[in-house]
Amino acid sequence: MAALEAQLLPLYEALRLIPNLLLRSDWRLFPLIAKFSPQALPKLLPQLPKLSQSAGQILDRTVQDPFVRALFDLECFLLSGLTAHDTVAPEMAFMFGERSQSVIDYPMGGSGAIIDALVRGLKKFGGELWLNQHVEKIQVERGRVTGVKLRSGEVLQADTVISNATLWDTCNHLLAPEDLPKPYRKKALDTPVLESFMHLHLGIKSEGLENLTGHHVVVHRRDRPVTEPGNTCMISIPTVWDAQMAPPGHHALHAYTMEPFEPWENLDQASYKQRKQERAEPLFLALEKVIPDLRDRIVLELIGTPLTHKRYLRRHRGSYGPGIKAGRAMFPGCKTPIRGLYRVGDSTTPGIGVPAVAASGILCANTLVTPAQTAEAFIGQGR
Ligand SMILES: Cc1cc2nc3c(=O)[nH]c(=O)nc-3n(C[C@H](O)[C@H](O)[C@H](O)COP(=O)(O)OP(=O)(O)OC[C@H]3O[C@@H](n4cnc5c(N)ncnc54)[C@H](O)[C@@H]3O)c2cc1C
Repeated sequence: MAALEAQLLPLYEALRLIPNLLLRSDWRLFPLIAKFSPQALPKLLPQLPKLSQSAGQILDRTVQDPFVRALFDLECFLLSGLTAHDTVAPEMAFMFGERSQSVIDYPMGGSGAIIDALVRGLKKFGGELWLNQHVEKIQVERGRVTGVKLRSGEVLQADTVISNATLWDTCNHLLAPEDLPKPYRKKALDTPVLESFMHLHLGIKSEGLENLTGHHVVVHRRDRPVTEPGNTCMISIPTVWDAQMAPPGHHALHAYTMEPFEPWENLDQASYKQRKQERAEPLFLALEKVIPDLRDRIVLELIGTPLTHKRYLRRHRGSYGPGIKAGRAMFPGCKTPIRGLYRVGDSTTPGIGVPAVAASGILCANTLVTPAQTAEAFIGQGR
């Protein structure tokens, strides 16, 4: 692991010197870095070859030990949904850097607290948030965006529209086929789709679980791929850090594992219910490794399937995101062939995960303004 760190930490050191708020998707990023973070460039130059490498390539030239290799593969899968040879090296560099050189924070109040902070920021700068407004169509005339049509029938006129729906949902549902050049549309819709998930949300009695820890990963069989549905189970118990997330005397648990979407299509109700119990079983077994008498403690049990995931998150096939493999393709940027239409979120650069998605928003926002405006906002933030 030390050998891997020696490869990945210098890449992290170089990348973290680039202030997030300066990110933009064109060459005009470089003069901004030179002006505001000149120390980043000499550190970044020797690391440039690693930017396009896979984490697996770095693994191959540093580690032979089978256990460490398997562990690294698992860590890559937990982050990207792909094994080490398909995961980009900078992604893992950030994971190694953040966990060895930074504190790991937990948002008190759960992920809702992050959303509240974002909404406060939006309002502070004059933004307005409309909830429960399903966008039916993005309106396009002669290759230029003109606004959006809501499900209510209301039309909002706009010169600029930014879609945070996935690549597939944007290209397939929000736009009409004729709005996009055929090759662009085909390439977008052909982008590999990562699997969906089985979820288990439980409320359990917490008595006697005083020494419980909050995060666990259970790999049921080391002789099977970590990517195999049901084999790798992730467990998160937020009430370990924030007791207010459950009524007194209880813990809230979330366990999940990857699960393909296809077998869930077109099931009758009885088969759906049966499959749901069967495919949740690896999650129960994983939780029992952490809390052996789990089943006696349950007061609330909610099982989510790929269909649930698709419905509530409104994502194409309930997918984790695009399965874009390192070295074979790049995540698309925020620009589209339609003038005034931009895309952000986990099917754009830099990719999947909350920090990456936040960066995609910054990339897009800065692409819409001049570098001078970016610089002004950056100085205003007091860096
Ligand atoms: C089980 C699980 C665990 C994860 N764990 C982590 C983790 O520990 N750390 C991490 O960094 N990342 C994690 N991720 C990944 C991370 O959650 C995602 O990459 C990220 O949330 C994607 O953000 P997004 O804004 O691109 O998409 P989404 O979060 O899917 O947001 C898209 C939004 O658009 C809305 N929408 C869609 N269509 C329309 C429409 N037509 N009109 C109006 N609104 C619409 C949806 O309702 C949704 O709110 C995890 C993901 C999963 C599924």
